[in-house]
Amino acid sequence: MHTDSGGVVPGVIVENVSLGLAMCAERVALFSTVALGARPLALALVAPRTGEDLTWPCGACLQVALELGGSSMPIYATSVADDAPISRSTVGELLPNGPFVRR
Ligand SMILES: [Zn+2]
Repeated sequence: MHTDSGGVVPGVIVENVSLGLAMCAERVALFSTVALGARPLALALVAPRTGEDLTWPCGACLQVALELGGSSMPIYATSVADDAPISRSTVGELLPNGPFVRR
């Protein structure tokens, strides 16, 4: 997570034996950014592919990103297992009809 204070805030998946209590790395980074008193400016994922495709944030993480960073916040994704080029999208492109849109 790149923040408005110039920092980089890491996030990792936090698993739990009760699956509903696990937390995605993206939301860990987003919430940690808020806890530090900063505003998220960009989100980057470095993760194994999901099938043939790069892994992008899930809907829950996109909703949090939409509310905290806005629809134009860039999201970057790449794979750890190969030399995939870094792909860029935005929260609004990945969640075009989110229930809360920050301008
Ligand atoms: Zn997620």
